[in-house]
Amino acid sequence: MSENVNPRRVRVRFAPSPTGPLHIGGVRTALYNYLFARQHGGDLVFRIEDTDSGRFVPGAEDYILEAFRWLGIKFDEGVSFGGKYGPYRQSERKDIYRKYVQQLLDAGRAYIAFDTPQELEAKRNEIPNFQYDASTRMQMRNSLSMPAEQVKELIEQGSQYVVRILIEPGQDVEVDDLIRGKVVISSSVLDDKVLYKSADQLPTYHLANIVDDHLMEITHVIRGEEWLPSAPLHVLLYRAFGWEDTMPRFAHLPLLLKPEGNGKLSKRDGDRLGFPVFPLEWHDPKSGEVSSGYREKDYLPQAVINFLALLGWNPGDDREMMSLDEMVSLFNLEKCSKAGARFNYQKLVWFNHEYIMQMTDAQVAQLFAPELEKHGVSAPMERIETAVGLVKNRVNFIHELWDNCSFLFQAPAEYDEKSLKKWWKDQAAQTTAELCGFIESQPVFDGAELEPKVMEWIASKGYATGKVMNAFRVTLVGAAMGPHIFAITDFLGKEETLRRARKALEVLPKE
Ligand code: GLU
Repeated sequence: MSENVNPRRVRVRFAPSPTGPLHIGGVRTALYNYLFARQHGGDLVFRIEDTDSGRFVPGAEDYILEAFRWLGIKFDEGVSFGGKYGPYRQSERKDIYRKYVQQLLDAGRAYIAFDTPQELEAKRNEIPNFQYDASTRMQMRNSLSMPAEQVKELIEQGSQYVVRILIEPGQDVEVDDLIRGKVVISSSVLDDKVLYKSADQLPTYHLANIVDDHLMEITHVIRGEEWLPSAPLHVLLYRAFGWEDTMPRFAHLPLLLKPEGNGKLSKRDGDRLGFPVFPLEWHDPKSGEVSSGYREKDYLPQAVINFLALLGWNPGDDREMMSLDEMVSLFNLEKCSKAGARFNYQKLVWFNHEYIMQMTDAQVAQLFAPELEKHGVSAPMERIETAVGLVKNRVNFIHELWDNCSFLFQAPAEYDEKSLKKWWKDQAAQTTAELCGFIESQPVFDGAELEPKVMEWIASKGYATGKVMNAFRVTLVGAAMGPHIFAITDFLGKEETLRRARKALEVLPKE
């Protein structure tokens, strides 16, 4: 594999900007970085890119960290984890960036520009498709078009300025992407992007990103497709600094598409179709708006991870259920797809069900116990475990267990109308009363032994099994639902079974 040609230790990073909750696409990006790092015995760095102070949202950083704790994605170093390349928060690296901006200025690879927003606006109105580049820069107010004296003066007077990269037109810029292959574009189409602003003494994303990837010895940049348009500029920045030899390899991951497959997945799709687009619930500190999260919607983190892993990659066979460790050994960045991946959220519901089925009853019971408590039920763990074993195949979510087994813990307080209409008629009251008498008379109660006896008795009476047993079921459950009837009687025990049936005989009509 081509990565192995590179003798450097594999180091990748997940570098979110704390501008709000982490989008589910960002989780997939982090996951792929994690899989790649683990697979190569490398490091995964968590860096916070907070140089755009205008977009900073309090709480976003903690939210992101909590999301990864919940998901089980572990970082090796970075904000809150420490490490020898710190600080890992860009707002704490101002002095570092200043030095590198100066380096580009000194080397003539960047220049200072004084154009005000109004002046830029005026130019945009004057020249159609205006771009700040070789064709226009000499008409602007910058250190290339103005005498050095004047530039010095303006700076001394405290005029605000930006530093722009000097892009020389007519050069080939090659972006070699592990997923998309080689793309060559001409530098003539690029503009002289702003790298630094004197107003807040902060670099822009582009400069900080490249300087940090270099200083943190990042070997592979794995990120969303939305960053692909920045890649040529990034290549030119590596060149401008003279860092081509250690330039990371790029891999731009495919877009996440709407469930219908047309266009980019957005929060509105989630609202429209009823699925979250964030890992955890998010409370917007400004608007107070609450956006739903997978954790609060009762998804299992393993299911979310497994689902996301397959959005843009597959192991080459039809395997779907994979643990994180399996994914680590099977993952292949170069086998990721270029085409967008449809966000088929129903598949995630399926995964959630499969993970519930894969867990032991004891594990599911642990998750279900707090839910039971919410409903005022406290029961010994073994009882919960048995109940879970009887109904877990019927649910997609842990909270759905309650509706499927509440009757095991609480006698019916009322009886389902539809079920009564269907089954509590003809001789239902009579057969139920007789069945109670028969069960009571038996020396055994255990379902395995009782079931054939009851069946024999029904046959001897000439009754219809379905009628007798469903009427009986309604008295125990409160509705014609639930697992095997003798599993229910086993769970309830003889006394409670008979008590429920006789209570129903008291309160339900005789005919
Ligand atoms: N700060 C960027 C983000 O919010 C990082 C992009 C990159 O990985 O280069 O995703």
